[in-house]
Amino acid sequence: MIDGSEEAGSMAGEAQADCLFCKIVAGEVPATVVRESETTVAFRDINPQAPTHVLVIPRVHYPDAGSLAAAEPGIAADVLREAAAVANQEKADGTGYRIVFNTGAGAGQTVFHAHAHVLGGRGFNWPPG
Ligand code: IMP
Repeated sequence: MIDGSEEAGSMAGEAQADCLFCKIVAGEVPATVVRESETTVAFRDINPQAPTHVLVIPRVHYPDAGSLAAAEPGIAADVLREAAAVANQEKADGTGYRIVFNTGAGAGQTVFHAHAHVLGGRGFNWPPG
């Protein structure tokens, strides 16, 4: 049973053979990496929605930000810290930037490996679409 922190037939946090972002972590799929830490990888989104659009992912596999935070709160904090560091590195923090965790298909999540979108370099509307 999938309970949010563990997927059927696998240990929580373990790499998933069919996960695109696990393959990026493993170096099996190329990505334009802009930052790395012991626990995270940050790379440019392949379909950027702003001048800065970087994804920050944990090296471990959890399907979304909520299940990551529940199982590995320290790594969830690392993702948030690295997202802010990306904004600073990209000089997107002067004018404001957005950190987005789409969670669930209904909210627009398409890749089910936890990730933060870091968006910057343009203005943003509220409420989001
Ligand atoms: P989500 O819709 O919040 O799950 O975000 C997934 C993001 O991954 C989307 O913004 C996609 O453009 C992005 N994406 C999909 N495949 C790749 C890839 O191979 N490299 C980099 N970004 C990707």
